[in-house]
Amino acid sequence: PAERAAELAELVGDRAGAWDRAGLLPPDLLRGLGADGLLCAEVPVEHGGLGWTSLDNGELTAATGALCSSLRSVQTSQGMAAWTVQRLAGPAQRGEYLRRLTGGELAAVGFSEPHAGSDLMSMSTTVRPDGDSVVVDGHKVWVTAAHYADLLVVFGRYTEGGGAVVVVPVGTPGVRIERVADPLGCRAAGHAAVVLDSVRVPASAVLGAGAGLGLLVSSALAYGRKSVAWGCVGILRACRDAAARHAATREQFGRPLAEHQLVARHLATLVTGEQVATRLCEHASRCWDSGSPESVIATLLAKNESARRAAEGAAAAVQVLASAGAQDGHVVARAFRDAKLMEIIEGSTEMCELLLAEHVVRGVR
Ligand code: FAD
Repeated sequence: PAERAAELAELVGDRAGAWDRAGLLPPDLLRGLGADGLLCAEVPVEHGGLGWTSLDNGELTAATGALCSSLRSVQTSQGMAAWTVQRLAGPAQRGEYLRRLTGGELAAVGFSEPHAGSDLMSMSTTVRPDGDSVVVDGHKVWVTAAHYADLLVVFGRYTEGGGAVVVVPVGTPGVRIERVADPLGCRAAGHAAVVLDSVRVPASAVLGAGAGLGLLVSSALAYGRKSVAWGCVGILRACRDAAARHAATREQFGRPLAEHQLVARHLATLVTGEQVATRLCEHASRCWDSGSPESVIATLLAKNESARRAAEGAAAAVQVLASAGAQDGHVVARAFRDAKLMEIIEGSTEMCELLLAEHVVRGVR
């Protein structure tokens, strides 16, 4: 992972700020990384992937997050799509889709709808079997990477009962993709609304038809949470380094900022946040790699705490740099906007807290 992270750093260079301002990642770069397997590195080797552990992929995700949260968002979506296929697909579907996802095609995952955000069980997208095909109708919102995607992994209700996940090629008649204008952060991540109007795909594109919708959603979200948590570790590392560099070199009142104790406190916040987030992510990934039942709660903890620490740490970094970091395109300004969004996605802070509380209460009943 360290070698691949170094290659990635070279590929990205100092362009992340410009991508953010333009609201666009270079599609060739995305396809290249996808074809190298780096957008979903945990896919097994027999399916064209790199077969990395969650821990190794986590370190790569942190490295991506430190460089560019938009790129890391695309990586999270692709990994979540691949994980959904791994978990839910039959052998033939698994072989086909994983080859495509490790061969340069890009995917986005749609759960959220205009009236179903935190409460995903109220989603109204339908998947209706019709002969040897299914018809999908629905409206998904804020789908990360949809602007770049070849394949849309869409969650909905199976009209015969339960839920279903459908892999919809973007070119299918009835699919409309409308970009989210001017998002607060991760501005090059290609967020878009996806409208599905009587979209017909072969029945072989359906994964997990009839399984509980909650089960389908939570399986995909678990991967997403883990990936976002590692991305937050990256945000914290980038902010820690930028703040430390600035505090060590900029002088006010005749000494470096770092020697003013109230400034030093911000540096302590950053290093503590980075360490706490890293340890929680490592624990979650180790649980994931060993198939531990603790994995669900460890992932939830890692996501919630890493997102909170990243938002707090990015704000501290902006404070340390002050006017030097208060400009669009600066690494800490970008981190400040990106980190806030991490507290909203893949289960908001409030939803994570509710689930953590539910877990602790269940333990004493
Ligand atoms: P709401 O559900 O309306 O919640 C509003 C506020 O109320 C939040 O603070 C929430 O925590 C709180 N709240 C809601 N219910 C409760 C409760 N019971 N108790 C306490 N507090 C509560 N969706 C996708 O499907 N695919 C994607 O790839 C994707 N990417 C995204 C990327 C970004 C940058 C963003 C901003 C969103 C993305 N989303 C995506 C959507 C995201 O999953 C939702 O925004 C998120 O689930 C919250 O839903 P909501 O925005 O509708 O807020």
